[in-house]
Amino acid sequence: MRVVVQKFGGTSVSNQEKRAMAVKHIIEAKNRGFLPVVVVSAMGRKGDPYATDTFLDFITCINEDMHSRELDLLMSCGEIISCVTMVGLLESTGYRAKSFTGAQAGIITDDEFNCAKVLTVKSDNLLAALKSGVIPVVAGFQGITEKGDITTLGRGGSDTTAAVLGEALSAFSIEIYTDVDGIMTADPRIVPNASVLKHISYSEVFQIAEQGAKVIHPRAIEIAMRANIPMVIKNTMNNSEGTIISSNLVSDAGDDSIEIYNLITSITHIKNRTQIAISNIALAAQNKLLAEFASNGISIDLINIFPDKIIFTIDGCNSKKAGKILANYGFQHSIIDGCSKISAIGNRIRGKPGIMARIINALVDKNIKVLQTADSHTTISCLVHGEDTVEAVLALHEEFKLDKR
Ligand code: ADP
Ligand code: MG
Repeated sequence: MRVVVQKFGGTSVSNQEKRAMAVKHIIEAKNRGFLPVVVVSAMGRKGDPYATDTFLDFITCINEDMHSRELDLLMSCGEIISCVTMVGLLESTGYRAKSFTGAQAGIITDDEFNCAKVLTVKSDNLLAALKSGVIPVVAGFQGITEKGDITTLGRGGSDTTAAVLGEALSAFSIEIYTDVDGIMTADPRIVPNASVLKHISYSEVFQIAEQGAKVIHPRAIEIAMRANIPMVIKNTMNNSEGTIISSNLVSDAGDDSIEIYNLITSITHIKNRTQIAISNIALAAQNKLLAEFASNGISIDLINIFPDKIIFTIDGCNSKKAGKILANYGFQHSIIDGCSKISAIGNRIRGKPGIMARIINALVDKNIKVLQTADSHTTISCLVHGEDTVEAVLALHEEFKLDKR
């Protein structure tokens, strides 16, 4: 059985024209000799009638403190509506199709409502549909606990659904259809001349996703990599080739095509970071404080530790909570809200001298203040004030000539 999983994101199923294009891609897969398994997200964005955020707005008007179990049940509805709609369209085009909720597709998760982890996939129902020549259409972003509660997988969760189904069905490939032509050198909403990366390794795209490019969820990459199934990111609305994500084969072979020769592959950004700097604090007290943050569910990034000082960033949504903890301890500290983390990513930057200097110069040339930096063997990150986000991304994209890739 040559299965291909095809996932259509929220904007790809948001109106009739787009849904018709999605159907076309599904039929094409069939015509290419594959058995498609379709995964869909909820239709559209906040404000659209069946979008997840619209449901959330509706319920919070009734009660702001709904239990996460109930919220998950509500949030699972958008994908179910999409899924039944796509079955209706496929059937009206003359193809047999069947809808599956995450639970019916056998996606078993833990009970962390809102961000559940997939434990296993019992694929019998999907296999039976495939064997009888029916196209299964699965509601993305959701699963069910062993006890029978409906769960959701967190933002970008439909990507994860596609990946776990691909793994469970030993798919030939996992195709992610979205509203851009593939993985790009930066978010095209910020950098109009960003270019599409034709081929990229799992590890590199994982970093890109981790550092803020929401085009694909990092968890989905991890699963596809574990199963060694290639992923293809494509635009629902055209026939461009998209981006192929697979193992490191191209660069390992020593191919020096321009695609892999550039040191930096892409520039990403994450908004709403808060920088915290604490002075006159000994190492033992630093440890205690970090443990306190951890037990309050505040994760820490871009951490620089000195014998008497510590600087780090947290998600802006935790800023108030962090401020209270610091005030309780009475540490001398400063907090800068509304920062952005800008990252330059490239598998080949390990040990290459001069890249950090190029990055800093490019930012300083534009009068952008760098609040903090960090580097790993694939990523160099700089923290800047939020109002400098667009200019910083543009400056680094230009510095590494990423529009020419
Ligand atoms: P979907 O609804 O299909 O899941 P998302 O909105 O989750 O789509 O992801 C697609 C969006 O990701 C694009 O519209 C684009 O603005 C954004 N994006 C951010 N960084 C990148 C990048 N490096 N390459 C491509 N798209 C990116
Ligand atoms: Mg998405």
